[in-house]
Amino acid sequence: MATTRPRIVIVGGGFAGAYCAQRLNRILRRRDVEVVLIDRHNYFVFYPLLVEAGTGSLEPRHAVVPIREFLDRGEFVMSEVTDVDVRRRRVIHTLKGSDRREEMSYDHLVLACGSVTRMPDIPGLRERGFQLKSLADAVALRDRAILMLEMANATKDRTMQEALLRCVVVGGSFTGVEVAGEFDELIRRAVRRYPHVAPDACGMTLVEMGDRVLPPLGADLSDFALRHLRRRGIDVRLKTTVREVGEDFVTLDTGTRLPTRTVIWCAGIEPDPLVRRLDVPTDERGYIRCARDGRVEGFDDLWAIGDAAVNRDAGGHAYPATAQHAVQLGTAVADNVDRALRGAATRPCDLKTRGSLAAIGCRTGVARIFGFKLAGFPAWFLWRTVYLLKMPRLSRRVRVALDWTINLFFSPDYVQLGMAEARKRRSDGGARASGGP
Ligand SMILES: Cc1cc2nc3c(=O)[nH]c(=O)nc-3n(C[C@H](O)[C@H](O)[C@H](O)COP(=O)(O)OP(=O)(O)OC[C@H]3O[C@@H](n4cnc5c(N)ncnc54)[C@H](O)[C@@H]3O)c2cc1C
Repeated sequence: MATTRPRIVIVGGGFAGAYCAQRLNRILRRRDVEVVLIDRHNYFVFYPLLVEAGTGSLEPRHAVVPIREFLDRGEFVMSEVTDVDVRRRRVIHTLKGSDRREEMSYDHLVLACGSVTRMPDIPGLRERGFQLKSLADAVALRDRAILMLEMANATKDRTMQEALLRCVVVGGSFTGVEVAGEFDELIRRAVRRYPHVAPDACGMTLVEMGDRVLPPLGADLSDFALRHLRRRGIDVRLKTTVREVGEDFVTLDTGTRLPTRTVIWCAGIEPDPLVRRLDVPTDERGYIRCARDGRVEGFDDLWAIGDAAVNRDAGGHAYPATAQHAVQLGTAVADNVDRALRGAATRPCDLKTRGSLAAIGCRTGVARIFGFKLAGFPAWFLWRTVYLLKMPRLSRRVRVALDWTINLFFSPDYVQLGMAEARKRRSDGGARASGGP
């Protein structure tokens, strides 16, 4: 890709990077500037709908946005970025399907590589804990729930059934509450198809270290959500955390040991591991430190946006790691890169926080939007409407709306998609090929 034109490279095509690339492609359309977006996937996950993809309310493919369709124009490269040489202005990457190391030069680089689930050093957590941070995670969780139902149906031992059908979700913020509420509903609906399983053998425990769930929504909506979850039989344990995750149990810091085969960790994120390999300034938690215009501190040609960075408002407060802020940062930084190319002064990225919404199961939601508070069915309906409208492209919106409509009239399919089996077969094959067992 030798070129004399200025080249802007964006690493990460999630909410922040894809919107940044889209904006740059539009504003630089008539100028001789090359925009290249690099991501390890050729889609980005529309995270607000990921829990629904896991519970089967939505076809998993419909919870992602194909990058090539989203961009219309501009260059996209499906590749794993392994390093950045910030002195020589080179991105080092490995094309998917190849193991050859490639280098790409840049004039401006936007780092938008997002975050991963932060798994602390709790014995057994990394080996046995589930998470929800990718499409594969959503499918794996659903497969797990169905496997547990099939196993419970095959045993008459009530204690064993309870252990198989208890799920422990850790983290009482948006993802944890949505996962607990929606997966509980999935299992309770599915159990009707399993004649040997006692419906009251199913159990969901939500463990939260703080003294409330969904703290950003304020005390009254948080209380509403807590009451709703508990009324449905979800065992919410506040001021509690996990000490150990075993094959068939979890131990809480209170000393209580709960029999379970499924622990889902939804308690916190950290920057993508790529950030640790880069020679850029980071804060004490490892997030890239940025000036108000989105530039990485100390650099003229390096920008960072979204979950991997810490971007601050005029008062010095970090914007929360959410899709709504990532999208606004993507477009604001695209405008600043354009200004920098023209030699004009850049502007601070001032973002608007429009509100927060959560779907907490059984067509119930909680929402705080433009200062208004809403709870129950209207909030759930608003949640679906907002995210349907936010989903890019009419064709994808229609697909999502059709999935939801079909689910109103027909019961979901309780079938595994075989994610874990396919992975195991490949790794077994790999082990055999390399002389393993
Ligand atoms: C389950 C869940 C539900 C959520 N719900 C909401 C919600 O309802 N509302 C809301 O506002 N926010 C929500 N969020 C948060 C929101 O999704 C994130 O804040 C947002 O995605 C951040 O955007 P980003 O572009 O920084 O990162 P991402 O969207 O994660 O994108 C990062 C991209 O970088 C790519 N990448 C990373 N490293 C490399 C590499 N080395 N090489 C190549 N590519 C790489 C990844 O493949 C990915 O596509 C949710 C998050 C989760 C996990």
